Amino acid sequence: MRVGLDIGGTKTVGVVLDAGGSILATHRVPTGRGNAEVAATAIAVIDELAQRSRVPSSSFTSIGIGIPGVVDAKTGEVSHAVNLGLTRLSLRHELAAHFAASVAVENDVNAAAVGVWHLLADPTLESMAYLNLGTGLAAGLVLDGRLRRGSRGTAGEIGHIPVDPHGPPCACGQFGCLELSASGAAIARLWPGAGDRALPALLRAAAAGDADAAAARDTLVANIAAAVRVLVLTIDVDVVVIGGGMISAESPLIAAVQDVLDVWASRSPFIHSLELSSRVRYAPSAGALAAIGAAHLATPGVLSST
Ligand SMILES: [Zn+2]
Repeated sequence: MRVGLDIGGTKTVGVVLDAGGSILATHRVPTGRGNAEVAATAIAVIDELAQRSRVPSSSFTSIGIGIPGVVDAKTGEVSHAVNLGLTRLSLRHELAAHFAASVAVENDVNAAAVGVWHLLADPTLESMAYLNLGTGLAAGLVLDGRLRRGSRGTAGEIGHIPVDPHGPPCACGQFGCLELSASGAAIARLWPGAGDRALPALLRAAAAGDADAAAARDTLVANIAAAVRVLVLTIDVDVVVIGGGMISAESPLIAAVQDVLDVWASRSPFIHSLELSSRVRYAPSAGALAAIGAAHLATPGVLSST
């Protein structure tokens, strides 16, 4: 049995999978802040998962963790997880002191990408980019059936590609990064004002004829479409799966992104030949994508040293 945890800024979600990949138990608690609290939350969730699945935690064969921030998958060390109040935490070391299972630690978007790959379970696919639209924007890459981290763990960090040299400053120190116009955090910047500044409110206001909201929606959609184009032009993945906190199954966002891609195709025979629009898919609607993906991290064939 394999355990997967998704340690997020507000909650930690845990799952236990059996050998066939079915979910035996889930647990969800608020995440504590700071090194000691984050580690204690993870340990408590794993203990509770053992209770819920009615087995001793010693029968868990592997524990996979998805966590935001910079993750060294070789050492299991997490750093710069600002939302969790972490500076540097050797999460693998902390968990290995409590549990006999092997422990794998991975960036949360990469873990979600692995989860999407397993849930799609589409044998016709060789490659996939999972485009995560949350507070920020990043992609997780599965190429030839294996997670691709890159030489420094930054493969897929396309949110920090500068697209507007005259754009606003980004927290990364550059200017005009893509995620400043294509993420949850981008909405309030593109559509400033009081009240709910989340995507559903923006789409409602735009549909109701608010010109500022319509302009913000169009900018947002065009930049998400640009992210899809970047992913296909750099790695030519079979599909770009869009998910994350900004996306819900009933959201018209993806259809709008596909409309933009179709307009670009109508203007360029080259873009037309890439069939961008038909490569875009919604992420499977699972509440625990990253936790499921984390549980699969120990699956042979998914892990890659690159
Ligand atoms: Zn940036």
